[in-house]
Amino acid sequence: MAKQRILITGGAGFLGSHLCDRFIKEGFHVIAMDNLITGDLRNIEHLFKHPDFEFYHHDVSSFVHVPGELHYILHFASPASPIDYLKIPIQTLKVGSLGTHNLLGLARAKKARILVASTSEVYGDPLVHPQVEEYYGNVNPIGPRGVYDEAKRFQEAITMAYHTYHNVDTRIVRIFNTYGPRMRLNDGRVLPAFIGQALRGEDLTVFGDGSQTRSFCYVDDEVDGIYRLLMSDYHLPMNIGNPGEITIKEFAEEIVKLTGTKQKIVYKPLPQDDPKQRQPNITKAKEILGWEPKVSRSEGLKITYEYFKSLPQEVLYQRDHKNF
Ligand code: NAD
Ligand code: UDP
Repeated sequence: MAKQRILITGGAGFLGSHLCDRFIKEGFHVIAMDNLITGDLRNIEHLFKHPDFEFYHHDVSSFVHVPGELHYILHFASPASPIDYLKIPIQTLKVGSLGTHNLLGLARAKKARILVASTSEVYGDPLVHPQVEEYYGNVNPIGPRGVYDEAKRFQEAITMAYHTYHNVDTRIVRIFNTYGPRMRLNDGRVLPAFIGQALRGEDLTVFGDGSQTRSFCYVDDEVDGIYRLLMSDYHLPMNIGNPGEITIKEFAEEIVKLTGTKQKIVYKPLPQDDPKQRQPNITKAKEILGWEPKVSRSEGLKITYEYFKSLPQEVLYQRDHKNF
């Protein structure tokens, strides 16, 4: 029987590359598409010789063409770290809006099921805690994070419109902070920032007083939730994340312990509109998908630390991404 064909945009990024691995393992023919603006071919080079893997270097904010049949599309292309999307704000708005429009059009033409990567950022600085899918959010549209949050909110709106008006088979996952191997050490997100600082012998920079919270999900758990959502019949947005909530100050202390660094924790100003608390309510994922995270933070952090330690020295000191 011919293999099911899946297009994964953002396939050279952190989550996209793990999704490529998972779908190859599940026996799919995987087509990864990426313009490498925040991604890296090293994340997928182990797949290049695989007969069921193809890579297209393309910006999905421009018309997307894929020859042949497509059964599934995962739209994961988008800068995802605050310092990335602050450096490339227009590209971020475009990939969430024009890029999503292009991929919904492709899904319609190919009669493919499409899952789009939304985010806990649609809840902004939430006034409801933990966040349930029914909560509309508290987003500042014109603040620095607005370029990401509003692009993702538009992405959800246009995805629902294609579902309702064009009968496209759609799924929307709201991803909460996910971590693991292949995160970029210099992408500014808190975990690579702290581990990078520990490895370079620098102080760990906590923003604000560190009382803000996040809930960190290990990448294998996140990918499994996404896989199950894609294969389910549920078309409304679904939270996939780990409800284990921790303050950023406590998180920094965990990294100090994990790495054994002798450096201090220092405090820097809190960026504008930085959400004060974030924790997913995953009742829907549990009931509808039978999914819940399995990897504890201590286990996941250990694996991730080993990965960062194995990187070449020059990566440790590289401050910017080569493509922007
Ligand atoms: P990432 O930066 O590692 O990966 C994004 C990938 O998309 C990169 O390879 C990048 O080059 C590619 N890309 C960006 N714009 C593109 C364009 N116009 N055309 C083609 N490719 C493009 O980030 P990630 O953490 O893997 O995030 C992947 C997706 O998951 C994003 O849509 C993000 O919003 C979403 N998400 C991630 C998290 C998380 O914690 N990692 C949380 C919420 C949502
Ligand atoms: N953060 C921090 N020090 C850093 C980087 C981030 O204290 O060096 C904080 C940041 O202000 C936020 C939290 O860690 O409160 C998570 O930040 P990240 O950029 O990882 O993700 P997001 O804010 O999008 O959840």
